Amino acid sequence: MHELGIVFHMIRTVEGVATDRDIARVSAVTLELGEVSGIIPSYLESCWRWACDRSELMRGADLVVEEVPAITYCEDCERTYPTVEHGRTCPYCGSGRTVLAQGDETIIKEIAVPDERPGGLAGSSEVADSDSAIRV
Ligand SMILES: [Zn+2]
Repeated sequence: MHELGIVFHMIRTVEGVATDRDIARVSAVTLELGEVSGIIPSYLESCWRWACDRSELMRGADLVVEEVPAITYCEDCERTYPTVEHGRTCPYCGSGRTVLAQGDETIIKEIAVPDERPGGLAGSSEVADSDSAIRV
């Protein structure tokens, strides 16, 4: 039940933001989900429905999943490659000294409020960091 834990964590986070900003209803939450996060989006969605029905704040809120492709960085040749295709071994130089640059994240990117423009979160800066990391 990993997905349910994620959903509870997300809802707690959203509830915290809602309390800080005096938000009474949430219409949608956008989640950046890494390709190798190990989370199954369809399962996450059904956990989301179930949990949101139990919360006044979250009732009827949509879950928007933006999948982040997994990219691995090679420390030896300083190139990046798709993680799912090649795993931990660099396809360019055969090195095993590789690190996942992005793709295991579960970051709340945006919380949408009815009749208001979506507000960004602190998590957005983390998103910007990983974006710049893949341009190396
Ligand atoms: Zn390499």
